[in-house]
Amino acid sequence: MACLHANGWGFYAHRLINYQAVFLLPPEMMVLYKPNINFLAEHAVDADKRRYIVEAEASRHYIDLDRYGNFPFDSLPKVWDSAVAKFGEDTLTAHGIVPWHVQAMMSRLTKAFADRNQQQILKLSADIGHYISDAHVPLHACSNYNGQQTNQQGIHAFWESRIPELLAETEFDLWLGTSAYIDKPGTFIWNIVLQSAAAADTVLQMEASLSNKISPDQKFAFEERLGKISRQYSSYFSRQYNNALQGMVERRLRQSMFAVASYWYTAWVNAGKPNLQNLNNTEPTATETADYEALNKAWQSGKMLGREH
Ligand SMILES: [Zn+2]
Repeated sequence: MACLHANGWGFYAHRLINYQAVFLLPPEMMVLYKPNINFLAEHAVDADKRRYIVEAEASRHYIDLDRYGNFPFDSLPKVWDSAVAKFGEDTLTAHGIVPWHVQAMMSRLTKAFADRNQQQILKLSADIGHYISDAHVPLHACSNYNGQQTNQQGIHAFWESRIPELLAETEFDLWLGTSAYIDKPGTFIWNIVLQSAAAADTVLQMEASLSNKISPDQKFAFEERLGKISRQYSSYFSRQYNNALQGMVERRLRQSMFAVASYWYTAWVNAGKPNLQNLNNTEPTATETADYEALNKAWQSGKMLGREH
């Protein structure tokens, strides 16, 4: 089995989500987002790269909701301060904080719009797109995140990398209408992680029952991925699995794109709909450029801190 990091939606899907989200924006936002669409796609994975230099980064990408009992996890307060009061920050951090982190990022993005700071708007848009998308992945909402408790190691990257890479552009319908204003961004992201947690069992069970029916030599094959031949889940098995999930991967991809565009749009509206054609800080500062370079260097040569998820 090729060593594939379990990285939230894989790099491919994260880039695709941020890219496609741009097309859901109104014209007043498109004037900034369209010319910078490649930046938004490329930097969709900065949040994962940051896990190589920032210890605290890992927990921003997931939440193990099953640590808090059963669906709908009523014992867990959804408001951060109440959750801290009940469980303590260490416990919350250990089990993941993605729904709260999305809300923190939303405040920062709204401020960047209000400050009319182009570089910050783009950077924070790329980053929040990542966290929102991670929240849509079922295995980002349960503690058995890579099937390690059920002898299904590899399922994380299978669901979020292998399937989208194989099917997104050829078989999924990724076109959506427009973004929408989100009245309650906190409630919205909590609903997403609750849906993810509810789907996690299906993600695991379907793989297990297919594996019982399909022999290992049909399940795995040497096939091309990202320009290299490697042993991985076969396209046959991948398609069978995707069918068994009845469109779940496609649906979560589409919902991610809609949610990302809608958070961007909502932050812009909440900041008073600033004119995006005439912003400050249009070019990266020397510090911003150096930060991006440091991030890439750490990612290329380093070791991931915290858990791989
Ligand atoms: Zn991630």
